[in-house]
Amino acid sequence: MVPMANFSVEDARATQVTPGFQLADIDPAATPNFSDSKKKLLHEFTEIDDELTDLQEMLYANARAGLPHTPRILLVLQGMDTSGKGGVIRHVMGTLDPQGVDLAAFGVPTEQERQHDFLWRIKKALPRAGRIGVFDRSHYEDVLVHRVHGLSPLPVIEQRYGQIVEFEQELVDSGTTIIKVMLHISPEFQAENLRERLERKDKYWKYNPGDIDERLHWEEYQQAYQIALERTSTASAPWYCVPSDNKPYARMVVKYLLLGALRDLQLQWPPADFDPAVELARLEASQQQLQQRLTQQQ
Ligand code: AMP
Ligand code: MG
Repeated sequence: MVPMANFSVEDARATQVTPGFQLADIDPAATPNFSDSKKKLLHEFTEIDDELTDLQEMLYANARAGLPHTPRILLVLQGMDTSGKGGVIRHVMGTLDPQGVDLAAFGVPTEQERQHDFLWRIKKALPRAGRIGVFDRSHYEDVLVHRVHGLSPLPVIEQRYGQIVEFEQELVDSGTTIIKVMLHISPEFQAENLRERLERKDKYWKYNPGDIDERLHWEEYQQAYQIALERTSTASAPWYCVPSDNKPYARMVVKYLLLGALRDLQLQWPPADFDPAVELARLEASQQQLQQRLTQQQ
């Protein structure tokens, strides 16, 4: 017998970045609030699926019913190469109805994107009402990779933290729940993952020789993450720094964060814009009519 849930939304939220946060103090291999076996972890992962799918359906139903002010959720995923963003998307979002998910991945900006403000492409990719949006990388690249490689002048980058906080506050004010997750891994774990990408035919496609060059900027990236997280983790749009050397653990935490966000919306099923009793009577009558016609045709 596998025990009942012993992980919770509160446990997941304990990974929140709060004042005084030090990335260097977070052990990527730890599994805070979970010390059970892998089997129990996997059990925990599916334990909440029914509730999650019901709540997501309710969210989508509200938008489909055209209810004004239907909320949306935005899950922002950041992390070093091989930190497991793709796995979170596959496993966590795999539980959901794809109709209700708006997924966007952000790579090196195109020529067109570069001509605009850094938030331009982000604004175009925001989730629609009633949807759960997932960002595989995000506007944070503009203060992460840009800081590490000096892709923008430092004063421009310095301004962006405030612009991001303001932008996210506007989203929250207009009905978006924002969950920002940093999948925090160790360089050892990254090496393991990259080695796997080089030793397995089915993983070559994920490998990019540039990943090794990026990896050599490890400390600068950690520094850039430290600054980004401490300056942009607000009460309305908090960051969660999730230890991610244990992939199933990280996926479970993200799933519970999503569940917490959905629960907090306190959704209801949209009311009928017709009289169900009248419609039931019409349905019965139509069935009788059809039956009569079909028997006459025989
Ligand atoms: P991947 O997620 O493996 O497909 O890689 C996407 C690459 O695009 C990463 O190396 C990111 O650092 C890079 N990237 C994403 N957004 C930006 C941006 N705004 N400016 C420059 N590079 C970016
Ligand atoms: Mg990559």
